[in-house]
Amino acid sequence: MSVGVNALRIRCVAACVHEQVAKWITNVHFDLKYKIIRRFNSMGLNKKSVDDINVAGKKVLVRCDFNVPLKDGKITDENRLVAALPTIKKLIADGGKIILCSHLGKVKTEEDKQTKTLAPVAARLSELLGQEVKFAADLEVVGPNAKAAVEAMKDGEVVLLENTRFRAEETKNGEAFSKDLASLCDVFVNDAFGTAHRAHCSNVGVASLVDTAVVGYLMQKEIDFLGNAVETPDRPFVAILGGAKVADKLNVISNLLEKCDTLIIGGGMAFTFLKAQGKEIGTSLVDDTKLDYCKEMIAKAEKLGKKLLLPVDAVVAGAFPNPIDAEIAVENVSVDAIPADKMGLDIGAETAKMYADAVKAAKTVVWNGPMGVFENPVLAKGTIAVAKSLAETDATTIIGGGDSAAAVNILGYGDKMSHISTGGGASLEFLEGKELPGVAAANDK
Ligand code: AMP
Repeated sequence: MSVGVNALRIRCVAACVHEQVAKWITNVHFDLKYKIIRRFNSMGLNKKSVDDINVAGKKVLVRCDFNVPLKDGKITDENRLVAALPTIKKLIADGGKIILCSHLGKVKTEEDKQTKTLAPVAARLSELLGQEVKFAADLEVVGPNAKAAVEAMKDGEVVLLENTRFRAEETKNGEAFSKDLASLCDVFVNDAFGTAHRAHCSNVGVASLVDTAVVGYLMQKEIDFLGNAVETPDRPFVAILGGAKVADKLNVISNLLEKCDTLIIGGGMAFTFLKAQGKEIGTSLVDDTKLDYCKEMIAKAEKLGKKLLLPVDAVVAGAFPNPIDAEIAVENVSVDAIPADKMGLDIGAETAKMYADAVKAAKTVVWNGPMGVFENPVLAKGTIAVAKSLAETDATTIIGGGDSAAAVNILGYGDKMSHISTGGGASLEFLEGKELPGVAAANDK
């Protein structure tokens, strides 16, 4: 691995003691901040939650997001398991019989069923909860093992079903599997924000077949943070968008322009904007079919009196690094002087400072997408600068999942953010202003 990444790791270790203290303080601080937000939140989620129901003695099916990365059967990042604990613990304390379910990765072949089993999750959850989570190993998910395990449950006990995607109907919201899931429970709780933008059996189908369908704490927290940021933000509200392609974020750009005070664009998508402004962008990533769209957005920002910040300089190289973390020779050039044979792979130093200054002046910041090819340490500086500026501000900072969440966590800034979304795609669709089917399916208050 390269020197940059090692240096980053050494810095993280050196900061460890300080981090532990800071973690405690920030956790208390953000917990308090969240409680205050909830208390005064007029835009709050108008859905019933686990606080609105009595589950004592009832069978409660909880859709979680246990889609964790696994290497050789070991969980390499357990953030999603930890994020699910508050809801599970609450339901245990209330005396429910807790039946957990989740998907894990994509299941396309029979072999996938060997590697995509949720068995390791049951083992780790047992440790995290300090009580047994019984794993119901059933290839058809709701099969004889699951039925017998649920039948034998006592109040406060926990069972985990097998990967919901072992059933082909899951992603098609098919009736048979939805009915199977509903037959196991009296109450349904959806706490899987990561799949809330999809209508599947285990979040939407089952919800339509039970009388009581509510959201869990994680789902509520996600929607509260994202919803408040977009609908009732403390201003100035700065939105930062990066990542590879403009096409993936068309509706987000348009919707956020209406809601924010400043929209910052970085990453590969910035170069389509720069080309739309008539600049030479060399061999940088570009989507020529979206040039008119970018012009429209620039005009929309002007019309609405919003600041739209684009890079003023860029880090360029002769070619995309291969492999992605390979050593690479780069130079920092003005966006008015990108050589025809060079490719922009990160925002430049001046741009990083300009973006950090905009963050400093903000009261609310939403960030989705890296500023450059952050997988390469030489090209990660823009992303690091933005992450650092978010870590240092007192503003409410919300990370919209995916790569920016990974970057923030790798850099050790995770605890400094007000909220890191557990759902990349779902948070993007939320920021587009779309209704999420997984949320819509829960009972209204
Ligand atoms: P997304 O999934 O759209 O958030 O895009 C994330 C990806 O965008 C990361 O893998 C980055 O390496 C990539 N990316 C960021 N900046 C650039 C750039 N200037 N050129 C090419 N790819 C980029």
